[in-house]
Amino acid sequence: MTALSVSLTHTLLGPDGPQRVRASQALLVMALYLAFALVLQVEVRLGLTSEQQGLPLTVFGLVGCLGFYGAIRSGLNLHLSEPSLTRPQMVYSMVAVAWAFAVSGPARGATVVLMQVILMFGLFGLPPREGRRMAGMGFLMLAGVIAWRAWGQADPDETRLDLIYLLYAGIVFTGVAVISVRLGHIRERLRHQTAELKLALARNQELATRDVLTGLTNRRAMLEQMTIAAREIERHGQPLALVLFDLDHFKQINDTRGHAAGDRVLQRFGEVAQGEIRAGDVLARWGGEEFLLMLPRTGLEEAWRCAERIRTRLVALKLEGGVPGQPLTFSAGVSSCRRMDQLDAAIEAADRAMYLAKATGRNRTELMAGPGLSDAPLGAAA
Ligand code: GH3
Ligand code: MG
Ligand code: MG
Repeated sequence: MTALSVSLTHTLLGPDGPQRVRASQALLVMALYLAFALVLQVEVRLGLTSEQQGLPLTVFGLVGCLGFYGAIRSGLNLHLSEPSLTRPQMVYSMVAVAWAFAVSGPARGATVVLMQVILMFGLFGLPPREGRRMAGMGFLMLAGVIAWRAWGQADPDETRLDLIYLLYAGIVFTGVAVISVRLGHIRERLRHQTAELKLALARNQELATRDVLTGLTNRRAMLEQMTIAAREIERHGQPLALVLFDLDHFKQINDTRGHAAGDRVLQRFGEVAQGEIRAGDVLARWGGEEFLLMLPRTGLEEAWRCAERIRTRLVALKLEGGVPGQPLTFSAGVSSCRRMDQLDAAIEAADRAMYLAKATGRNRTELMAGPGLSDAPLGAAA
């Protein structure tokens, strides 16, 4: 689109959104109306309708089109219960067509087709019941005009002709009513399918980001969340701490009490650790019996205290560990970073710190300075 057509579209239809759709619909109706006014003019020229009868109808239609378009462009429609103005636009147009039937002389039969066009607009914009009601209203309007014509009609042939038109109109309106029901069913099915798809999408998203066994964030989602968090702390010049937990002698739990018991221990550790962290922190199942905790806007010391809080809580629960007679414990490594490009190095540092904790006796937390700082262990807790 050229710049000119973009600015013209913007002037005529307004900014993107539902109001633009409504304005374009009102403009389409106006275009149809202009064609209608042109045909009316031809009728006048051909002597089928008098100028006196054609002019008020032309003005009526024009006022209506401009009024609906103006109401939408000014936002007046937004204060109404039906901002699309579908119903009032349809009723107004049906009055215009019934009026055209009354003044079109021998050409009046053709106006029934216009009623059909109006009802088609309703098929897409209204619920089926409303569509049927509109079809009924159009039929009654036409019947009213025919009755009114018969009242002052000297020629019975004209009335007979009108009745035939009414019968044909009845067929058209019944057809529209039937189609509106079918369309309603299709729309309902589509709505149902869309809702199901949304649900399946949400379920898939949940499956893609959660660890099935523990319900914690999985490794892939954790990598994404760490990248987002690292970008955030980099902007604000704050540190991001990582704690890597590895359960001690976990294999022995599997070997002595079975895999299912091992699974329950993993779940239990997840619950305990999750209960000790802040709302902005994220705990993930990093793999096997390893868990990674991310603490945004947190320094090494504070992260270490958090790991120890989890240790205290776990020990207090006295869960059965891998070594007979000893409770379940973990070894942990803490590190931190301040930039997004240091994230991988920070994970590696936490891993090294955790292995150091294993090597120096297990059931302890080691600190390893983050990337860019010294690689030496900073301390430990037992
Ligand atoms: P360490 O104290 O040195 O960490 O010893 P460990 O036995 O905990 O470590 P190791 O790496 O030797 O064993 C980890 C075990 O965790 C081996 C693996 O079978 C088990 N494991 C990994 N994933 C799962 C799981 O989803 N469920 C269960 N039950 N076991 C798992
Ligand atoms: Mg391990
Ligand atoms: Mg282990």
